[in-house]
Amino acid sequence: MKAPGDTEDQQLTVALRIRPLSAAELEEGASLIAHRLDEQVVVLRDPMEDPDDVLRANRSREKSYVFDVAFDSTATQETVYRATTRGLVAGVISGYNATVFAYGPTGCGKTYTMLGTDREPGIYARTLGDLFQAIEDTSGDMDYEVSMSYLEIYNEMIRDLLNPSLGYLELREDSKGVIQVAGITEVSAINAEEVMQLLLKGNKQRTQEPTAANRTSSRSHAVLQVSVRQRSRRGGAVRLGRLFMIDLAGSERAAQTQNRGQRMKEGAHINRSLLALGNCINALSDKASNKYVNYRDSKLTRLLKDSLGGNSRTVMIAHISPASTAFEESRSTLTYADRAR
Ligand code: ADP
Ligand code: MG
Repeated sequence: MKAPGDTEDQQLTVALRIRPLSAAELEEGASLIAHRLDEQVVVLRDPMEDPDDVLRANRSREKSYVFDVAFDSTATQETVYRATTRGLVAGVISGYNATVFAYGPTGCGKTYTMLGTDREPGIYARTLGDLFQAIEDTSGDMDYEVSMSYLEIYNEMIRDLLNPSLGYLELREDSKGVIQVAGITEVSAINAEEVMQLLLKGNKQRTQEPTAANRTSSRSHAVLQVSVRQRSRRGGAVRLGRLFMIDLAGSERAAQTQNRGQRMKEGAHINRSLLALGNCINALSDKASNKYVNYRDSKLTRLLKDSLGGNSRTVMIAHISPASTAFEESRSTLTYADRAR
């Protein structure tokens, strides 16, 4: 039997991570309203409800949300990686596709989870380390070739972060029916450090427009694609496993960031991609109903068509702040990601 929180071998894993209260939130006098109840449940309290009203009406001020695995602010990068993503590596080097997303409002820890810091590396570095290690440990007569590309989707347009001078790129299906970004730079890589160097270089090319919610809020989806090609030395077909690791744009609503005009339009595009992604994931999680999965609604979901569903594995790590000042955003994030629909 599977233990709760055991995400090995699952087609879709939805995780929820609560970051620590920030210094700015403490300064604003924010209180803690979100906590992890157990390995799978997160509880959110509505800070606006009057406790006496709640008692009289016999309602609860708290609502719980269920995930495959939940992390509170004490969870380490290693813990998050092991419980969500480590299990994907073996599949990718055997020719299966996989996708890992960081979802959530700006400032709630997406980049921390994916990129992390020098001292606390995140999912990119840990996954790549294990991937190259797994290839090295594989005995037998297989040859592996690993390559990477790094792009951003901004306003439903695709830019190559390793070579932005290429302008906007289009999606195409190749002769084998695999979705490709036409003309994108694909760099072969021999170790994790090399990929991380390229990724950090690419991050300097990202479109980062400041908004009222956060000076460095990211309005674009950053997509790292790692391709593993495997071929037997005795000849035969090449098997391709693709791993997408994605730091999604902030999920905050346009209204909340007081956006107008251009920023508002960006907000609409971001929501379109995130909505399409949510719909796809929702359809995938609802195996019984055999829902139709519509990948065509956004660039992001079209790009991921072969890497969501089917034989692919998908991990979504949603992020929230525990602060009372973030209640609305936390509620909508928890609702988006809740596994109990
Ligand atoms: P996002 O990418 O979602 O906008 P960030 O990852 O940039 O958010 O996080 C915002 C701030 O919070 C950063 O200073 C980051 O270092 C910090 N932070 C986020 N999550 C954690 C965590 N789990 N532990 C410690 N600090 C965190
Ligand atoms: Mg970020």
